[in-house]
Amino acid sequence: MEKKTVLSVKNLSKIYSKNGTSTINALNNLNLEVKEGEIFGLLGPNGAGKSTFINILAGTVIKTSGEVNVWGFNLDKNPRQVRASIGIVPQEVNLDPFFSPRKLLELLAGMYGIKKKDRITDDILKLVSLDKQANSYARSLSGGMKRRLLIAKALVHQPPIIFLDEPTAGVDLELRQNLWENVKLLNNQGVTIILTTHYLAEAEEMCNRIGILNKGNLVALDSTRNLINKFQTKIVTFTIDKMLDLNKISLDTLKVISNNNEKVTVSYDKSKIKIEDIILHFSNQNIKILDITTDDADIEDVYLGLTKS
Ligand code: ADP
Repeated sequence: MEKKTVLSVKNLSKIYSKNGTSTINALNNLNLEVKEGEIFGLLGPNGAGKSTFINILAGTVIKTSGEVNVWGFNLDKNPRQVRASIGIVPQEVNLDPFFSPRKLLELLAGMYGIKKKDRITDDILKLVSLDKQANSYARSLSGGMKRRLLIAKALVHQPPIIFLDEPTAGVDLELRQNLWENVKLLNNQGVTIILTTHYLAEAEEMCNRIGILNKGNLVALDSTRNLINKFQTKIVTFTIDKMLDLNKISLDTLKVISNNNEKVTVSYDKSKIKIEDIILHFSNQNIKILDITTDDADIEDVYLGLTKS
C-alpha cells in the first residue's frame, strides 16, 4: 500500500530583506515530500536554510511563496491544524528548573486544552525514559534527560510528526546514543520524524531518507543508501612490500592520501578509474601487494561533495 504523504512542500521560497537594501534567498524553490513513518534527515551547513524551513512550519517565519501541506492541512488555509500536527523539539534547552517532568507536561496539556482523561503524560514519560524522574525537579536532570524532556514536551498534543532541530548538538556520545534509541522507539510507535543534524554519521545511521540543503537549494534528495551508492569516490589502502614512486603515476582523479613503505592510501572516482588501473602501476614498479582494503563513500563524502562551493 502506498504510504500517506504527511509533509508536502511545493516551490517553497523565503527571501529575507536585509536593511531594506539587499535580499537573501534563504530557501529557493524547495520541493519535497515526506511519507508517514519515515525518519527524514535535513542536512546542510550553517546558513543553508534549515531553521528557516522549520520556522515556516512552526509559524514563526512567513514564507515568501510556495505551498506547504502538513498532514493534509494547507499552511495558508489551516495554520492552526498544521501546528497541531507537528511537535517541534527546539535546539536550546529552556526548562523551568522548578517543575518536575510530570508537572511540566500536565501544565502544557492544560494549555492545549486537553482534558485530564485524554492526557497521556505517563506514556510520554515512559517513551522518553523519564518515568523514574517523573517527579524530580528539572534542574536535577542530566543533560540527556533534559533533551528527552524537550522531546516529551513536543509530544503532549500527540502530533503525528515530530521535528527535531539538531537534537544531539552538545550532547556527549553516550547520551546521544540513548537519545537516538528513544527517537527510534517513537518512530516505531508510528510517529514520523524529521530532523536536522550536522552529525553525518548519525544521519546515515538514523535516516531512511536524506535531503541536503545548500544556500537555500536542495542539492540532494534520496534514500540514504542511494545517496551513498551514487557517490563515486572510493578509498583504497594497499599494503605493499616497498614504497611506491608516485612520480611515475598520473591517473585522472587519483589522489594520494598517504604513502610510505608499508601502505599507500588513495582515493579516486569510480567512474573514471578501475582498481586494475592502479594495481598495474604496482606491478610496473615491481611492488608486491600484500593486502587491499577498500572504504566506500559514506554520507560525509556525499555531503562534502555536494556542499563545497
Ligand atoms: P541554517 O538553519 O541552515 O543555519 P538559516 O535558515 O538560519 O540556516 O539561514 C539561512 C539564510 O537566511 C542565512 O543566510 C541567514 O543569514 C539568513 N537569515 C536567517 N534568518 C534571517 C533573518 N531573520 N533576517 C535576515 N536573514 C536571515
